[in-house]
Amino acid sequence: MILELNEQQRMIRNMVREFAEKDIKPRAAELDEKNIFPWDSLKKMAQLGILGALIPQEYGGAGLDNVTYSMMVEEISRACASTGVVTSVHNSLTAWPIIHYGNEDQKKKYLPILARGEKIGAFGGTEPNAGTDLGAMQTTAELDGDNYILNGTKTFITSGPEAGIIIAFAVTNKELGTKGISAFIVENDFEGYKIGGIFDKLGINASLQSELIFENMVVPKENLLGKEGEGYKIALSTLDGGRIGIAAQAVGIAQAALDESIEYSKNRQQFGRPIAKFQAIQWMIAEMATKVEAARFLVRYAAYQKDQGNRISKEAAMAKLFASEAASWCADRAIQIFGGYGYTKEYPVERLYRDARITQIYEGTSEVMKMVIAGSLLR
Ligand SMILES: Cc1cc2nc3c(=O)[nH]c(=O)nc-3n(C[C@H](O)[C@H](O)[C@H](O)COP(=O)(O)OP(=O)(O)OC[C@H]3O[C@@H](n4cnc5c(N)ncnc54)[C@H](O)[C@@H]3O)c2cc1C
Repeated sequence: MILELNEQQRMIRNMVREFAEKDIKPRAAELDEKNIFPWDSLKKMAQLGILGALIPQEYGGAGLDNVTYSMMVEEISRACASTGVVTSVHNSLTAWPIIHYGNEDQKKKYLPILARGEKIGAFGGTEPNAGTDLGAMQTTAELDGDNYILNGTKTFITSGPEAGIIIAFAVTNKELGTKGISAFIVENDFEGYKIGGIFDKLGINASLQSELIFENMVVPKENLLGKEGEGYKIALSTLDGGRIGIAAQAVGIAQAALDESIEYSKNRQQFGRPIAKFQAIQWMIAEMATKVEAARFLVRYAAYQKDQGNRISKEAAMAKLFASEAASWCADRAIQIFGGYGYTKEYPVERLYRDARITQIYEGTSEVMKMVIAGSLLR
């Protein structure tokens, strides 16, 4: 594996970095404070190919590799973690399962819409009684003529109130356990589709999570994704890729905490000199930088393995476990370096600290990542 980026990857990373610095970062605090979904940025990101990063060119996407895509998510998240997770869910959890499991009609119908950012994607897996244990979901789908009728409630759905295309999971045959779960492509204007309560959260406040309520929702049978009973497999393989996106989001947050700490410590004077001159501060910065680099390489390795078509459950879990813990650690140290000012909303490290925390929870908690890693080692 080559750790160096190629010319094209470097060029794209620099382009996304520049865009994120100029267009996303200046508004990140305001969007967080006011819970504003980042539609303005998303429209521009669509034009830059970021919303169709993984979508093949024949369906209107940029057709990029996973290494490049993970850097895009990192750079966006470095500027705004909320916009980062919306990007990741749109690409990894919505477009990818259609690319991978969709039939030709589904690809032609939905991928160009996602690539153009006309509709934002979401992933409806979690339910009030089915979080880590996704197989315990209770949403049902019954075939009735040419349609499936879905009933149930999904919860914590990222972009839920704004999403137009949702990959939703439901039980088509209760007797078969996880082999009786199926995946569907749902549109937000389907009859019986309702948006439930929006959650008030600790961080990533601009990304908006809500319940999605399916009340006798009518889903045309051609919107079944893959075959009946393949839903659980589709969910797990989709989440493997999604974890690369969340790990990249975590690296972006950790890098931002490091950037802010370097700048602040060079300027803040105590005892007649910049605090960067104190070894205590230097050691924190050195450790932060080491964790950021290590996390980035784990993400890149998992993305590279995905590009090779290899199974990535363990690699993606390692990347997410390490990067998410590193993000929280780095944001915590950044607040320490900023002292009292770090605890205020005057500086971005307070937001980074709140935003980092979720990366250890969604798309599989840190405990689940350890289960996946151990499971693959102890087979
Ligand atoms: C901001 C946010 C955004 C989200 N976005 C989405 C989304 O877009 N789509 C979606 O489908 N879901 C989404 N989720 C849901 C998220 O993936 C779940 O919250 C997560 O998987 C954990 O499920 P849970 O909250 O029910 O916790 P639980 O499953 O109840 O877990 C509680 C605790 O028990 C531990 N635990 C559970 N089982 C085991 C076990 N077997 N061994 C050891 N420890 C265990 C967990 O690690 C955790 O510490 C989101 C959640 C949040 C908060």
